[in-house]
Amino acid sequence: MHLHRRVLLGFALGAAAGLLLHAAWPANPPPVVRGLLEYVAEPAGRLFLRLLLMAVLPLVVSSLILGVAEMGDAAKLGRIALKTLGFALLVTALSVVTGLLAVEIFKPGSGFPAEVREKVLRGGGLPVPPIPESLTFTQRLLSLVPDNPAKAAAGGDFLGLMFFSLLFGVGLIRADREKTRPLLKVLESVNEASMAFIAMIMKLAPYGVAALILNLTTHFGYELLANLLGYAGVVVLALAAHQFVTYSILLRLGSSMRPLDFFRKIQEALLTAFATSSSIATLPVALRVGEVQLGLPRDIARFVLTVGASANQNGTALYEGVTALFLAQCFGIELTLAQKFTVLLMAILGGIGTAGAPGASLPMLVAILASIGVPAEGVLLILGIDRFLDMCRTVLNVTGDLLISVLVSGSEHRRLHPVPKL
Ligand code: ASP
Repeated sequence: MHLHRRVLLGFALGAAAGLLLHAAWPANPPPVVRGLLEYVAEPAGRLFLRLLLMAVLPLVVSSLILGVAEMGDAAKLGRIALKTLGFALLVTALSVVTGLLAVEIFKPGSGFPAEVREKVLRGGGLPVPPIPESLTFTQRLLSLVPDNPAKAAAGGDFLGLMFFSLLFGVGLIRADREKTRPLLKVLESVNEASMAFIAMIMKLAPYGVAALILNLTTHFGYELLANLLGYAGVVVLALAAHQFVTYSILLRLGSSMRPLDFFRKIQEALLTAFATSSSIATLPVALRVGEVQLGLPRDIARFVLTVGASANQNGTALYEGVTALFLAQCFGIELTLAQKFTVLLMAILGGIGTAGAPGASLPMLVAILASIGVPAEGVLLILGIDRFLDMCRTVLNVTGDLLISVLVSGSEHRRLHPVPKL
C-alpha cells in the first residue's frame, strides 16, 4: 500500500479509536485505557514528533545553503526571493480577507451569552499567553540576525538559522567555485543522508499519526466543539474555502498542475501537518513531497519550502483575523473600519512572523486584541478549542508553502522533473 494511504489509514483508525474511547469513558477511563494512553499512545506520538524535529536542523541548513548556492547567481536569488515574498503576501492577504468576510457574514460572536463569557474569564485557570515584547521596527529587524548561529540552532531560533544559511549560501555563490566545491559536496551528502533519514522516519508515520490523533480525540472528544460551534464552524469553513477554492484558482492560473492532482500528491504532508500542528516539524515531509511527489526543481523547492515553513502561514493569518473579530463581537465591541483594517494588516504580518510551532500564533493574537481594545483575556474563551483549530490551520500553512513553490517554479518556466512511481 502507498505510504500516504497507510498514513490516512493510521489517521482514521486513531481518530475512530479515540472517539470510541472518549464516548465510552468521557471522564474517568479505567486503568487499562489510561495505561494505554500514558505508556503507549502518548510516548509513541511524541517519539514521532521528536524524530521529525530532529531532522530539521541538518535539513534546514543544508537545504537552504544548497538551494541558494545552486541558483548560481545573486540576481536569480533576488528574483526568486522577491517572487516568493510577493506570492506569500498575496496569498496571505487573500486568506485573511476570506476569513474576515466569513466572520462578518456569519457573526458567530454576536449574542454570545455573557454569563458563559464571564464564567470562562473568571474561572478559566488557564494562563493568558503573554503579549510579545513590543519591539521597535529596527529592534525587530535586528533580532532576525543572530550574532551566533550555533546559539540560534541550539535555541530553536529557526528564523535566525535561516538568515545565517541564506547569507552563507550567498557567500558560496560569490566565492571561488574551485575552492568551495568540496563543501558543496559535503552539504549535498548531508542533504541526501537527511532525506534518506526522513524516508526512514516516514515509515513510522502511520503509527505516529495514529498515536497523536488517538491521544487528542480521547482527551477532547467532540464536546470540545459544542460550546464554540459557530466560531469553530466559521474558522473551518473559511479555511476550507481558502484551501480548496483560492488555492485551486491560483494553481489553475499560475501553473499547469491540476488542483486535484496537487492535493492528492501532497497528502502525506497534509496529514503530518494536521497530526503535529507544526509547520517546522512537517518541513522534512514537505521537502520530500516537493521533490519526490511534485517533482519541483530542487533549488526552488528547497528555498521556498524552508523559508515558507517559518515565514508563510496563510492558515494562521486567517485564523488570527477571524478570532480577533469574533472576540470583539463576543464583548459587544463595535470595530471601526480603521480598526478592521488594523486587524487585516496585523493578521498578514502575523502570518509572516509566526513561528511554525503548535500554538505559536497565540501571542500575536493577544497583540492584535490589545491593539483594537479587546480584553486580552478574551483568548481564554477560545483556548479550549485552539488545539483543534491549530491542526486545521497548520494544514493550510504547509499547503501554502507547497503552492508557492509550484507557482514560483511555474513563473520561472522551469519544468517539473518526472516523478518516479513510488
Ligand atoms: N501551528 C502553526 C504552525 O506550525 C502556527 C500557529 O498558527 O500557531 O504552522
